[in-house]
Amino acid sequence: MILRNDALMITLRHLRQIADLGITARATDLAGSAATPHRTRSISPIGILALRDGTATGIALPFGSSDHAALTALADTAISHGITELRLAPHHALLATGAPLAFTAEAAALGFVTSPDDNRTRISACIGSDGCASGHVPARAIAARLAPHLAPVTSLHVSGCAKGCAHPRRADVTLVGRADGYGLVISGMAGDTPQALLRADQLESAVAHRQG
Ligand code: SF4
Repeated sequence: MILRNDALMITLRHLRQIADLGITARATDLAGSAATPHRTRSISPIGILALRDGTATGIALPFGSSDHAALTALADTAISHGITELRLAPHHALLATGAPLAFTAEAAALGFVTSPDDNRTRISACIGSDGCASGHVPARAIAARLAPHLAPVTSLHVSGCAKGCAHPRRADVTLVGRADGYGLVISGMAGDTPQALLRADQLESAVAHRQG
């Protein structure tokens, strides 16, 4: 009973802290405060990883999401190559041990991220208007469209609205869906005041050159 009461008090304290941050706050906004441990970057698990015995192949879901058809097709591909399990890994990745190169090629053809150099590893995007009532634009679909144009080394966040759920941190370039277009934020977060308002046909050029 004591543990249960402690958990209740801690939960209420965190909810109060989130409420104090305002109506647009999320739990991740507490990151960096005493309430949550500091975030650290981890090594990408995407690509061929050497194990003590053999290799593991890491593939990632583009922008952290895949529909059931793609996942079913991936499972069928894995089975056809004798892969009996896919393990969850950081960065929305799946690990397959002992997978042949053909598996990687087929996973890439299905739309999965199979190389750490894939531009999509530097892009965050929420579902946007394809699945969220607050979204003004289909953020993941736009992110997929912009990925081939993204400048080297540049990080991009495409957000369906100013809440910035997919990446509640700074990005080199942030595009924020609005009722009247796309807010462009350089070296900031989705909730920051945009430096410019863009049309849909201006997005490719906005991400093609490192800004700021
Ligand atoms: S950022 Fe906005 S549109 Fe995207 S998931 Fe969050 S609330 Fe929805």
